[in-house]
Amino acid sequence: MKTSAALDRIQPSATLAMTTRVNELKAQGVDVIGLGAGEPDFDTPEYVQEAAIAAIRGGKTRYTNVDGTNELKEAIAAKFKRDNGLDYAINQISVNVGGKHTLFNALVATVQAGDEVIVPAPYWVSYPDIVQFAGGTPVFIAAGADQNYKITPAQLEAAITPRTKWLILNSPSNPTGAAYSAAELKALGEVIERHPHVWVMADDMYEHIVYDGFEFATIAQVCPSLYERTLTVNGCSKAYSMTGWRIGFAGGAPWLIKAMSKLQSQSTSNPCSIAQAAATAALNGDQSFLEGRNAAFQGRRDLVVSMLNAIDGMTCPVPEGAFYVYPEFSGLIGKTTPKGLVIKTDEDMIGYFLDEARVAAVHGAAFGLSPAMRISYATSEAILTEACTRIQEACAALR
Ligand code: PLP
Repeated sequence: MKTSAALDRIQPSATLAMTTRVNELKAQGVDVIGLGAGEPDFDTPEYVQEAAIAAIRGGKTRYTNVDGTNELKEAIAAKFKRDNGLDYAINQISVNVGGKHTLFNALVATVQAGDEVIVPAPYWVSYPDIVQFAGGTPVFIAAGADQNYKITPAQLEAAITPRTKWLILNSPSNPTGAAYSAAELKALGEVIERHPHVWVMADDMYEHIVYDGFEFATIAQVCPSLYERTLTVNGCSKAYSMTGWRIGFAGGAPWLIKAMSKLQSQSTSNPCSIAQAAATAALNGDQSFLEGRNAAFQGRRDLVVSMLNAIDGMTCPVPEGAFYVYPEFSGLIGKTTPKGLVIKTDEDMIGYFLDEARVAAVHGAAFGLSPAMRISYATSEAILTEACTRIQEACAALR
């Protein structure tokens, strides 16, 4: 049987492929340090675990509303109000099987052949593939280290055409950690205001992971005129260390939420009822644990940034949030490894780091901006020190 045209338009996720490769090497007994995975190393908070156990014992084990229980939607509405000053009624909220599913539903429910979706690069790996799966065309705006991986209003203006349907804005960003200030978002929002046919998908998945007192903002909040045409996407995976539970959600226009629910009703149905009970507890519970986790992440960020910037030919901007750094290394392209291999691309470099330094990162080409790599620092300082030392030694051995 031949696979479908929609399937043939997409690639497997490069980040999940690297995680699989690392697990295979580890199973063979190879001492490899994996810095490829996009998930916190902390456990799901205990109060959330307890809520899930209580949900199982309390019989919350049956089908729920397709796009989420009312309890969870109320907790999400309260979260949007508390954290973002946004009012979303229950019929403006969708709960899905992880943030990826939220984005998938929204794009597949709205994008038609010929539609363009603006994706700032470097981008989270799944955006272009989901757009292409839906039949649309991703339009990239390149934002390099020289502009701190953030697009400018002039770049955005130049990318908009009559076929533009969505702008996807991810702040703090996976893969760079860069986050837009309220003023920067407002300047981008003023461009969108001039183009009433363009909608904004704000992917705020890393909202709670920010450093140095950075104040998170989201576009519907700083540009109230865009509230009607913004889908504000968030989830429990990163802030609450709940990647395996699979709860993502969004607030937006009632017709769009309904369209997403229609698609979900013919695919996954409701997200896991137990995970929904856990997410309700996570959002309604005491949020103070986030501060301690961010302090730990910030120490790791500082360690990794300084060790990578010590490498000749590598430049690593200091990110405002998330748990990734995105060093670029144009200064190392063209060099030769001790085994005589010429490093021509960032994929070659990542292969060299994996084979010789036993460190796994993800090559920049997977995120649309080369030559660079994404390193996830969601692991202990001892492991990060060892990994960065190995990278430093591997780079020093290049001629
Ligand atoms: N958006 C961004 C920017 C992400 O980094 C991720 C996860 O890596 C997601 C969405 C999806 O999150 P989830 O694991 O909840 O599907």
